[in-house]
Amino acid sequence: MADCIFCKIAAGDIPAQVVWQDEHAVAFRDIRPQAPVHVVFIPRRHVVSFAHVTSADGPFLGSLGVGLRAVAEAEGIAETGFRVLSNNGPHGGQEVAHLHVHLLGGRPLGPMLRQEVGVSRSAGTRGSDEARRRIP
Ligand code: AMP
Ligand code: ZN
Repeated sequence: MADCIFCKIAAGDIPAQVVWQDEHAVAFRDIRPQAPVHVVFIPRRHVVSFAHVTSADGPFLGSLGVGLRAVAEAEGIAETGFRVLSNNGPHGGQEVAHLHVHLLGGRPLGPMLRQEVGVSRSAGTRGSDEARRRIP
């Protein structure tokens, strides 16, 4: 898709530190790493988020599992543990509107969410509005 930064990475049109790839998926180092190991997995096909996944994305989802395992082993975090997460849509804090999955590890990662985020449905709505403006 034109003007999609992750489509351009998948096509090799802009540089990225690719650590793994196959026919359906590409994995590259996050440009702003939040852990010693921070790798982003994307489908080659443009899909906005998990809210847009169809059965056509089955091959990618299979590749994703295999790729996560391969990269975790290659990066030496398969035994120490790691986190797999995906931000989807405004409330998920998604910044790039091309489905992606983060692999994080290399240190203890702490609780899944910051404690102050809370469980109220209204928590964090300001950030969500900002994200909504960025995603068409
Ligand atoms: P999010 O949409 O919030 O799940 O995060 C998108 C992620 O993509 C962020 O962690 C960014 O640092 C990362 N990112 C954005 N542009 C690039 C790029 N050109 N190369 C590598 N990572 C990127
Ligand atoms: Zn794209």
